[in-house]
Amino acid sequence: MKITLLGTGDAVGTPKIGCSCPTCLDAIAGGRSRRLRFSILIEANGGNVLIDSSPDLRWQFLKKGIKHIDGLIWTHAHYDHYAGFGDFHRVQNGVNVYGVKSTLDYILNYLYFLKPVRHDVNFFEPFSIIGLEITLFEVTHPPLKSRQVY
Ligand SMILES: [Zn+2]
Ligand SMILES: [Zn+2]
Repeated sequence: MKITLLGTGDAVGTPKIGCSCPTCLDAIAGGRSRRLRFSILIEANGGNVLIDSSPDLRWQFLKKGIKHIDGLIWTHAHYDHYAGFGDFHRVQNGVNVYGVKSTLDYILNYLYFLKPVRHDVNFFEPFSIIGLEITLFEVTHPPLKSRQVY
């Protein structure tokens, strides 16, 4: 199994629009401060599982040569964790998406037109994607109760 952190940056990205702090200026100048937003790729058993679909997903996939995923797990319904799902439009249909009911309800109310295959899962109840056993558990992430992957 190989786990790749495609992005671990802040919700607004670095550089932040309109910011002139030293970190953002370094990122704008092409320095080492530039960070993409949150997505993790798990490669195992000949398949790919994505954890969260950041607004930077298109660039993350192009950079790593990712062409297909077998499952997408959404940890929670904050913009920076799901908005890149729209980048699957005309790239991959029928994406298998996983999350707890409240997360899927919120995200798919917006992105329903991509016709994902919805898989509702529950906290602390293991489920399987490409042979990997995955369990979601709750963590405190105000104002939401977030869903993390184990
Ligand atoms: Zn800044
Ligand atoms: Zn969040």
